[in-house]
Amino acid sequence: TFRFASRVSQVKPSATIAMAAKAGELKAAGKDVISLSMGEPDFDTPAHIRKAAAEAIEAGQTRYTPVDGTPELKQAVISKFQRDNELSYEPNQILASTGAKQSLYNLMQALIGEGDEVLIPAPYWVSYPDMARLAGGAPVILNTSAKNNYLVTPSQLQASITDQTRLLILNSPSNPSGRAYTREQLAAIGEVLLEYPKIVICTDDIYEHIWWADEPFSTLAQVVPALQDRTLVVNGVSKAYAMTGWRIGYTAGPAEIIKEMKKIQGQSTSNPSSVSQAAAVAALNGDQACVGEMCKAFKERHDWLVPALNELPGVSCEPGEGAFYAFADFSGAIEKLGLSDDIELAEHLLEKALVASVPGTAFGTAGHLRLSFACGLDTLKTAVERIGNSL
Ligand code: PLP
Repeated sequence: TFRFASRVSQVKPSATIAMAAKAGELKAAGKDVISLSMGEPDFDTPAHIRKAAAEAIEAGQTRYTPVDGTPELKQAVISKFQRDNELSYEPNQILASTGAKQSLYNLMQALIGEGDEVLIPAPYWVSYPDMARLAGGAPVILNTSAKNNYLVTPSQLQASITDQTRLLILNSPSNPSGRAYTREQLAAIGEVLLEYPKIVICTDDIYEHIWWADEPFSTLAQVVPALQDRTLVVNGVSKAYAMTGWRIGYTAGPAEIIKEMKKIQGQSTSNPSSVSQAAAVAALNGDQACVGEMCKAFKERHDWLVPALNELPGVSCEPGEGAFYAFADFSGAIEKLGLSDDIELAEHLLEKALVASVPGTAFGTAGHLRLSFACGLDTLKTAVERIGNSL
């Protein structure tokens, strides 16, 4: 037996990956499992992006690049923020990383230490609390409910702030809830934050383009410009351009923080893949029609799935503004089946309906299941029918 560093014992393996593994085992045993547990678009990366990558390989873009990304990628990111979010940045305010996941990890490592509190509204993306713990900090969970669209309220935020609060993470549209803050709600949250100048804010905007609300997407730094100098905006190409495997994410924010994040990256992974960076330049600078086409497909599935879930006994689900997940309250169904919680329900559905989902507990909100609609409509219809038969 080996002796491990104490930090690893504080961290759980990703619950979404664990569920996918269980479903994989059943599939390998010949069972016809439908997986609604995945967090990636089911589309292929658009052709013009793949072509740019192939060309980059042939052109010899196969060497180390600057740690923080090629000048071309940083410029493409700067143009993206100007075009989509009315935010202006200089190159020293941009860091390209190996996925938005590494962007967030770098940020926690750079900013969070022993005793620092990280405010995380629940339901949250599974990795935030563990990343905070890995950095030695303490995640402080702000529980939300369906009543507030799974969004944190200004008064709740205010009440959670202590002298130890270092960072607030906002993810809109949210994984897992698909819910998003309106411009007005962001302004109200911003008003609270303006009173606490020491708090740094991270907005995880990775689902920005998978969006169908009536008003356009907005991000906190855009709505409350006075917060831009202490807000890190995290985004990436994984979800918008169906590029999960390419591993390119990026952060924009105050040069002072970006510099320290770059230092962490420089002593761990160095630059993200040179070929993937070239592909990301093509994605960000190229024709954006592919983004809209994929979004349209996600919306069509969402519009079918949410009412279908509400037809099931003991299930209620609110429509979302974006992303590709339905986060449904199954507490009535759990009770009716005599199960103890959402984890047992997810296991029940995997065994009886051969449908893989992710229990809400993994996201800090029990009684729920997250069902991904990053799959074809026919698959989705079969899955819901099977779930209905096993409730
Ligand atoms: N943030 C959220 C909310 C996510 O859902 C994900 C991916 O599942 C990420 C960040 C990480 O994305 P990337 O593939 O760019 O690392």
